[in-house]
Amino acid sequence: MSNHKNLILFGPPGVGKGTQAKLLGSNLNLPHIDTGGLIRQAIINETDLGKQAKSFVESGKLVPDELIIELIREKLNFLEQQSIRGFILDGFPRTIPQAEALEKMIEEFDEKINWVISIKAPKEVVVSRLSSRRMCSKKTCHEIYNLITKPPKEENKCDICGNELYQRADDSVEACVERFIEYDTKTAPLEEYYRKKGLLTNIDGIKAPGDVYNEILSVIN
Ligand code: AMP
Repeated sequence: MSNHKNLILFGPPGVGKGTQAKLLGSNLNLPHIDTGGLIRQAIINETDLGKQAKSFVESGKLVPDELIIELIREKLNFLEQQSIRGFILDGFPRTIPQAEALEKMIEEFDEKINWVISIKAPKEVVVSRLSSRRMCSKKTCHEIYNLITKPPKEENKCDICGNELYQRADDSVEACVERFIEYDTKTAPLEEYYRKKGLLTNIDGIKAPGDVYNEILSVIN
């Protein structure tokens, strides 16, 4: 996988990591690895991982490192076998032990992280985005809407596939409070970790998604 684009999108819940990862993934033809989405699917499918992760996710807590590292290991091994030229990590790593485990895993493939893009926005903005966020319920679509800034054309229906939209259980006010505590205590220290390694670039996440996207492109190209 040498000389590939290995990118981490970093930032608090609701800052737009998922939206940007989707755009980058489809335009650059790189796999988008969304640990939150993978876990939600595991919960729906009632797999072992899903059963172990459910109560953490629903209460807004981080899933234990061992579970999430194993999930990423499987994904990266799969990509390596397919000779895929890079990846976009969305929602991983979220703790220092996860970042260290990631580094070790990709070193085995003679790889490294090329960029950590930290998307920034004030807390009031991300909290308001989370409460108005809706998602398409179709597994292969999962388009993201915002009732204020990007409402669906027809109420509660996905513009792309027509399936019903839903609100994530952990976008409730109670779960969001917990998610921000987890972010501030366990995830935010990663910024310093990656800054010291010279990998971090800050991007203003208040702008429209298209502008944020162009800024990210200008960093990685
Ligand atoms: P997200 O969709 O990225 O907001 O993730 C939703 C939820 O999945 C989080 O609140 C955590 O419970 C869990 N999760 C996703 N990624 C991770 C991770 N890297 N480490 C621990 N828990 C995670």
